[in-house]
Amino acid sequence: MKDTANRFSDVFNKQKANQFNIGNTTYKQRIKKLNALKKAIEVTYKDKIRLALHADFKKPFAETDLTEIYPVLGEIKFAKSNLKSWMKRQKVDTPMALIGSSSWYVYEPKGVCLLISPWNFPLNLTFGPLVSAISAGNSVIIKPSEMTPHISAVMAEIVATLFNENEIALVEGEVDVSTELLKLPFNHIFFTGSPQVGKIVMKSASSHLSSVTLELGGKSPTIIDETANLKTAAKRIAWGKFVNSGQTCIAPDYILIQESVKDNFVAELREQLKSFFTEDTSASDSLCRIVNVKHFKRLEAHLENARSNNATFEIGGQIASEDNFIAPTIISNLPEDASLLQDEIFGPILPIKTYTILDEAIDYINAKEKPLALYIYSKSKKNINHAIKNTRAGSTAINNNVLQYSNHNLPFGGSNNSGIGKAHGVFGFQEFSNMRSVLKQHTKGSIELLFPPYTSFKQKIIDVTLKWF
Ligand code: NAD
Repeated sequence: MKDTANRFSDVFNKQKANQFNIGNTTYKQRIKKLNALKKAIEVTYKDKIRLALHADFKKPFAETDLTEIYPVLGEIKFAKSNLKSWMKRQKVDTPMALIGSSSWYVYEPKGVCLLISPWNFPLNLTFGPLVSAISAGNSVIIKPSEMTPHISAVMAEIVATLFNENEIALVEGEVDVSTELLKLPFNHIFFTGSPQVGKIVMKSASSHLSSVTLELGGKSPTIIDETANLKTAAKRIAWGKFVNSGQTCIAPDYILIQESVKDNFVAELREQLKSFFTEDTSASDSLCRIVNVKHFKRLEAHLENARSNNATFEIGGQIASEDNFIAPTIISNLPEDASLLQDEIFGPILPIKTYTILDEAIDYINAKEKPLALYIYSKSKKNINHAIKNTRAGSTAINNNVLQYSNHNLPFGGSNNSGIGKAHGVFGFQEFSNMRSVLKQHTKGSIELLFPPYTSFKQKIIDVTLKWF
């Protein structure tokens, strides 16, 4: 490990020595880098990316295009259209008391950054934040997840082909690699993963006071009230929950539904799942697998726990361990201490709980940690506003789910247990930047009249200043 540690500090020091060259790049030079990354993903490596994700967890090519490649290309396109204005100095007003000066702030790069990414959307959640880091003029060491080794190898090849390691380097490896990297005095750490590991990252960051962005997870609720269009809700939830086989940080984790519409909703969901994945879901090419045996066993234990609690398996429940397959599964009648209602599920299992009045659902949500996303399906403006005003969450979609992630004009991230800081578009650019304030004195300023010694005459001017300026 000593060799590894030396190698990491060597790369770190090279990036540190090079940081002003990277940081002082022009808008055009940064766009050139983004274009190179775009071409690699869109053209040169597209087939390799699709094959790697299929090898990692049988991800369908169409899903790779939609949920891995498209979001990164979208992030690049958005940055290219806006980077010039983001990089401009931002002039601000000058108060009367500071007459004779002008003020502005600039987004300067944070410097040398660490980017640790998860396995569930490994390309998207590695290269997406990388676009923001490059746009803001930083150098970066990337540590992708060890759980999707095929795509990590492709990303390592892309990075090594496009960049010198004194600017961007990717290191593969397990937890010990992250642990070693976290000892270095990075200027910023952008971490995407679980709240548990997020706490470890923040603790390590504190020893150097590195700033952090933590994109975390948790249990994202979906409320369905009695006015909702159940067919539409079922269709959108069947997609939002089971895309990537539920291994999505903003997938609906559980449903809170008004009791009078529960049975109709389950019937609609059953029809929808049949039309997406046919009766025998294991034969469908449109469902990816659970990423590995460890996560398969974790999800299998949830199913066993539900069975031992005599919960109702409304849909699904089938598994195939040789293929890490779990069928899209809907479960109701779970007791409150069932593991499915306690832990983040991160898989194709969707518990349903009923409520009688909306405030019951709201109280239930508020008794848990703040979620990364909260969804509400309703035709009632009153109910929608009431639910949003009386809960807290990183993001919300009304009568839809997951798609709020795709609008680069919206900040993406959680709140407290579901995250700290925001990604995407200008918010990602800001996250990788320090807002540096500048005041320039042009002429003699009026404040100089108040410099010591503090005579009674100056005190009078100070009194007037306090009162009027
Ligand atoms: P994870 O926290 O286990 O791992 C994420 C990364 O951290 C990996 O690269 C891993 O190697 C590294 N890591 C693991 N243990 C570590 C340790 N002890 N010290 C240092 N580094 C360590 O998360 P995961 O299983 O890859 O992803 C699933 C979690 O991520 C879920 O909670 C999900 O909700 C969350 N997530 C959040 C977002 C978001 O944008 N907010 C996106 C995707 C996933």
